[in-house]
Amino acid sequence: MDFELSREQKDIVSAAREFAQGEFPDRADYLICFVQTDPENPDRHRRHSMIMVETDRDGFEANHLTGKLGIRASDTAELSFSNVRVPCSNLVGDPGNGFAEAMYLFNLDRVVVAAQAVGTARGALEESIQHVKKRIAFNAPLASFQSIQFKIADMFTWIQAGRNLVYEAAWRIDQGTIDHKLIAAAKSFCGQMAVKCTDMALQMHGGYGYLAEYKVQRLFRDAKITEIYEGTTEIEKIIMARNLLK
Ligand SMILES: Cc1cc2nc3c(=O)[nH]c(=O)nc-3n(C[C@H](O)[C@H](O)[C@H](O)COP(=O)(O)OP(=O)(O)OC[C@H]3O[C@@H](n4cnc5c(N)ncnc54)[C@H](O)[C@@H]3O)c2cc1C
Repeated sequence: MDFELSREQKDIVSAAREFAQGEFPDRADYLICFVQTDPENPDRHRRHSMIMVETDRDGFEANHLTGKLGIRASDTAELSFSNVRVPCSNLVGDPGNGFAEAMYLFNLDRVVVAAQAVGTARGALEESIQHVKKRIAFNAPLASFQSIQFKIADMFTWIQAGRNLVYEAAWRIDQGTIDHKLIAAAKSFCGQMAVKCTDMALQMHGGYGYLAEYKVQRLFRDAKITEIYEGTTEIEKIIMARNLLK
């Protein structure tokens, strides 16, 4: 979010639009925003701070977004700030340390999203196992066909690999180590894995999987966001490459 510090008035002046995800973001009383408070600082990592913005301030608007592909049980809003004035006393954390504070949060959130992806994929595997054992095609359960068995085996392997990445990344954070490349690997692998697994699961359900009454349709739609928010798959790969090649 681009904010500017108006030094004369000791106010924060803003003009920005951004997504926000969470419980009722359009009905929140307060927001913690990542704002540019020292744009001239030669160290680009010292230009930002965190600031609390009360949502009843003039110039603030939140519009509830509808029509999302998936994660429809979770609210998303578009926040708009038009010359919102916030006193410097609303600054939280260390002024100028906002970048490091945001990155710390991102690292935790990325592991959470990777775990979300593992859970989504696991749901798809469980639904698929139940379905292929029950559904009869050409006088035999789908589960008896080798091409179906291979899909089930691949899904199990990828989910287990993703889960282990999540556990190691989370364990290292608990030990006090932020391993950027490992966190990025967990987020990027698990997001892609969830999209692939839910696609396979829907395929094994055939036409039924395309219908809203089958859970696998929702899992297929829910998986995609794990490749997008908290850092896209591409950005995670950039982080890994930068760390490995420096
Ligand atoms: C449901 C939902 C909830 C969200 N919640 C939040 C939230 O709570 N807080 C928040 O801050 N944001 C939130 N977001 C925003 C989300 O984090 C961004 O949409 C996401 O980071 C991608 O940014 P973008 O949409 O600007 O895509 P863009 O930056 O326009 O990227 C488009 C594509 O280009 C690729 N790309 C961009 N730059 C590069 C590059 N340098 N090299 C290679 N490829 C590149 C991207 O990987 C992507 O595939 C939410 C989004 C959604 C859909």
